[in-house]
Amino acid sequence: MHMRQNILLLIKNYLFPSDCALCNDNLLNADEIKYGLCMNCKESLVYIEGERCNKCGKPLVSEINTCLSCRKSEVSYDRIWALFPYTGKYKELLTKYKFLKKLPLAEYFAEKILDIINKAELNDAIIVPVPPRPGKKKETGWDQVDYLVKKLKKPAKSVCRCLKRKKSSIQKELNREERIENLKGRIYCNKNIQAPKTALVIDDVFTTGSTMEVCASVLKQNGAEKVYGICLFYD
Ligand SMILES: [Zn+2]
Ligand SMILES: [Zn+2]
Repeated sequence: MHMRQNILLLIKNYLFPSDCALCNDNLLNADEIKYGLCMNCKESLVYIEGERCNKCGKPLVSEINTCLSCRKSEVSYDRIWALFPYTGKYKELLTKYKFLKKLPLAEYFAEKILDIINKAELNDAIIVPVPPRPGKKKETGWDQVDYLVKKLKKPAKSVCRCLKRKKSSIQKELNREERIENLKGRIYCNKNIQAPKTALVIDDVFTTGSTMEVCASVLKQNGAEKVYGICLFYD
């Protein structure tokens, strides 16, 4: 980080002391303040290496290459990467970000996503945020996915907000197929914006994969050839 930014962060922290999103300890240096995490907590968050599904990115148990769920149903996306399990401290991380608006965590997530972009050679893909449900910004004051995407844009990545979403009923009680049916036609491509040839869809949590599936299928119907995705958490 630049010296001037460092000093500004330290002054801000002196006036409004910030604490670690996970353990609440005071943050001590510019790096910790930047990410909103103390060094110990930050280092305790690990990407679990090992075999992952070559479609949805979830860890494989006894399957080879593709998980059972991705084998059972055709998927429109080419490949998803998912960072952390949606449990324990990882889940807490999202709660602190999404609901308590610990904004520096976006810097941390962005860095992790950029790591994947580099490793997977997705530098030419155009970033497409998953569209929020209508009214979300009004109710909660923000869209945590779009905020994260803005952080990704800084290192000169292109962003295309071509996907939109119409009102839909709550999805919690539905299974994957029902969710996909429910979302079809509600997520659509803005006709005035050309969908990118190679898209990289960004979302926070990958649960059944229905949102990613519908986003990918809509993008492909609108001219995308490849659709990749990165989710912060898998459930
Ligand atoms: Zn901590
Ligand atoms: Zn899978």
